[in-house]
Amino acid sequence: MNKTPIQSIKSINNNNVFIKRDDLLGESFGGNKYRIAYEFFKDMETRNKDLIIAYGNNRSNLCRIISYLAYKKRIPCYIVSPSDDSGDRIDTFNSFLVNLTKAHYVFCNKNNVADTVEKLILDLTSKGYKPYYINGDKYGKGNEKVPVHAYYKVVDEIVEQEKAINVNFDYIFFASGTGMTQAGLIAGNINHGKKFKIVGISIARNVNNQILKLNIFLNQYFNTNNYDYSNNIIFDDNYLFGGYGKYNNEIRKEIINMYKEDGIPLDPTYTGKAFVGMKNYLSKNNIENKNILFIHTGGTPLFFDFINYISEKY
Ligand SMILES: *Cc1c(COP(=O)(O)O)cnc(C)c1O
Repeated sequence: MNKTPIQSIKSINNNNVFIKRDDLLGESFGGNKYRIAYEFFKDMETRNKDLIIAYGNNRSNLCRIISYLAYKKRIPCYIVSPSDDSGDRIDTFNSFLVNLTKAHYVFCNKNNVADTVEKLILDLTSKGYKPYYINGDKYGKGNEKVPVHAYYKVVDEIVEQEKAINVNFDYIFFASGTGMTQAGLIAGNINHGKKFKIVGISIARNVNNQILKLNIFLNQYFNTNNYDYSNNIIFDDNYLFGGYGKYNNEIRKEIINMYKEDGIPLDPTYTGKAFVGMKNYLSKNNIENKNILFIHTGGTPLFFDFINYISEKY
């Protein structure tokens, strides 16, 4: 995989801010899920599976990329997809692209995911397929190592890039959702002697819940048993603005400004929310004169959902 560019943008609270453009990765609008999907397909091939099952809602960037890569590799693809907590299911550019690349959606609710996954696996197995469910067992456990490796490797990449551009980063910020990305960055950071402060900005979960999940990922990754990795974890859940997918005027303005000033697309669910969270974190904690790296984790189709929505409104 090619290295993604790191570019300098505006200074915030007297800090030099840089963006690592993982949104520019390869195919299907890139993003962190491109790196993660790459690991899943590699693992599936070594395990001789011939069908992939992903999990995600209609906004999911992971499902878009898995569906695209499966289509390209001529591997059948199913997506178990829960409705939002409100019970709604909204069409997005991501769900449009999933349909375009012929993945089969299997809809469910948050409370019958395990049953839906189990039935689907049984059904496909009885038809002669060898299905690979990206999250492991029907409860979504057991395959944590695979996605974590994606951002473990990114820390090596960042350390190499620091030398090339002659900057040492003090902090790394990004949008933290399921925790796959954050666990990978923490694991890579441990491997590099805890060189960076890795700060995940929550886009959905509260801090206690996420520390639990990150500990699961990290214990699996390092083959440890119930080790407590808490002192490696910085996770801020103060910028949820009402929960997953919700946003306020500050985020709206940031997305518009970032596009006008630097031509970079952010979205309200992930990167825009995390960028605003980072700004607030820097001022609240009086962080100044540091080098800050923000990882742009992708989600460009969600930028266009946002533009579509505001252009209807205004
Ligand atoms: C999934 C996603 C995240 C969060 O990554 P996790 O590994 O789930 O924590 C952040 N940004 C974008 C654009 C995403 O699609």
